[in-house]
Amino acid sequence: MSNLEQTLSIIKPDAVERNLEDKIKTMFKNEGFKIVKEKKIKLEKTDAEKFYKVHETKPFYNDLCEYLSSGPIVVMILEKTGAVLDNRRLMGATDPKNAEDGTIRKEFGLSIDKNSVHGSDSIDNAKIEINFFFNN
Ligand code: UDP
Ligand code: MG
Repeated sequence: MSNLEQTLSIIKPDAVERNLEDKIKTMFKNEGFKIVKEKKIKLEKTDAEKFYKVHETKPFYNDLCEYLSSGPIVVMILEKTGAVLDNRRLMGATDPKNAEDGTIRKEFGLSIDKNSVHGSDSIDNAKIEINFFFNN
């Protein structure tokens, strides 16, 4: 038996800026995801630093946090059976150049940093990330 799961998705600034919000949501809905909660917000850089703390030793950390806080984002809780893995599959590879046809990053990603969407990478991180944005 597979389980109903929730995962956190973010439509990143590059995609919101290009008005891709509805197109990306349609891709989620077509794959059977329910958007349980959503909000459009703009993060402070310090919030982005907390959210991406796992990457704090990486060379791209500062640019990543600048970027995520550079404009409005849409944060969503997505729900379906196997949501975490299915969302990662629908997003495609981190670098859009390596993403498969039909994935969000293949369709819309501009570059490895401006890759249009974030998705939780495990059930545990999904809980942490959902809590970060929706339980305060
Ligand atoms: N990123 C980047 N340069 C890199 C690797 C990652 O700018 O060389 C950014 C990119 O926006 C990515 C985010 O950092 O989505 C988080 O990286 P991660 O490896 O967790 O990729 P993801 O889980 O988003 O596929
Ligand atoms: Mg990640």
